[in-house]
Amino acid sequence: MRFRDLSAQYTRYQTAIDAAIQDVVNSTEFISGPAVTRFEHHIATVAGTDYCVSCANGTDALSLVMMAWGIGEGDAVFVPDYTFFATAEIVSYCGATPIFVDVDPRTFNIDPKKLQIAIEKVIAEGQLFPKVIIPVDLFGVPADYPAIDALARKYGLKVLEDGAQGFGASLNGKMVGSFGDVATTSFFPVKPLGCYGDGGAIFTNDKALVDLLKSIRVHGKGDDKYDNVRIGVNSRLDTLQAAILDVKLDALMAHELDDVAKVAARYNQHLADAVVTPFIPEGVVSAYAQYTIQLRSAQERAQVVSALKAHDIPTMIYYTIPLHRQKAFHHLNANDADFPVSNQLSQTALSLPIGPYMPLEDVDTVCTVLLDALRSFRGE
Ligand SMILES: *Cc1c(COP(=O)(O)O)cnc(C)c1O
Repeated sequence: MRFRDLSAQYTRYQTAIDAAIQDVVNSTEFISGPAVTRFEHHIATVAGTDYCVSCANGTDALSLVMMAWGIGEGDAVFVPDYTFFATAEIVSYCGATPIFVDVDPRTFNIDPKKLQIAIEKVIAEGQLFPKVIIPVDLFGVPADYPAIDALARKYGLKVLEDGAQGFGASLNGKMVGSFGDVATTSFFPVKPLGCYGDGGAIFTNDKALVDLLKSIRVHGKGDDKYDNVRIGVNSRLDTLQAAILDVKLDALMAHELDDVAKVAARYNQHLADAVVTPFIPEGVVSAYAQYTIQLRSAQERAQVVSALKAHDIPTMIYYTIPLHRQKAFHHLNANDADFPVSNQLSQTALSLPIGPYMPLEDVDTVCTVLLDALRSFRGE
């Protein structure tokens, strides 16, 4: 069994994907070919934003926005403590200071109450300027944007949605990619919308920002690449990836979101009485980047992992180290006691195989092994 089966999708869409790749190869427009602009329009329409600016990966997408906003030394940027490293890495990379915020015990997303406390603390200390909140749509569930936006307005902060794990998900009918002032996503292969390499995108309704981002992503270009008006980077989405994504975006919207929800529902059916299953808030359609359960203890989790492994069933632990405990951030001297939820999750969360192409019989197999292991561990 695979943790996320990418080959089943390719088998189903092979004709269209192969043709899309061949077209690019025939055209030899490998950099910034017409497929890139086509895909940007396509995905902006799906996200419900006026513009999409594609780039080389989801990490760059976040960085490009920080550069465009001029975030740097002396600025405080609020990020959830429980997320992939990149969300906070880009803050330090641009010279600003990440402020970690504990997460909600049910959604695992940034906790708005603790966010407010963190903002007030930064203001009271007077060392840093609070500038940006980067909520993450962890595991495919949109963050609590109504509460986050209210705080952003109250304290005059910008919101940058990190939708790397959430493309396709929605909250009250509004799509991931459309929250905050600006949103980003990643097309890393195993994300809900993945390509065949690295890729990323930025979503916004702000035309002036689009022009700035398009300059920054190609060496700070002015009229052309050899007229350089600012310091930028080289961060483009390959034409090949854009062509592949065009096909895969249609598949995602046509049936993959529904299909992955069926897989999750089957898991819920089996597991709801035995473990904490994913909490999907009212009004949310999850993209199920992960199906993450919570066990009672690290020991119990280890037992389950090894029982599944003995049956060749892969699992993943997202995340074993909360951001505030990462060595790269030790110099920030975060107080471990401020993060009870993310510390707990790092001990008890376990992600099971999932994907829109996972056969329901495989879900049954995973659950049989998992429930057996739990019964023996718990002595039931
Ligand atoms: C994957 C991911 C990123 C980074 O995306 P890349 O395309 O791998 O650079 C950023 N934030 C979150 C939450 C992610 O899961």
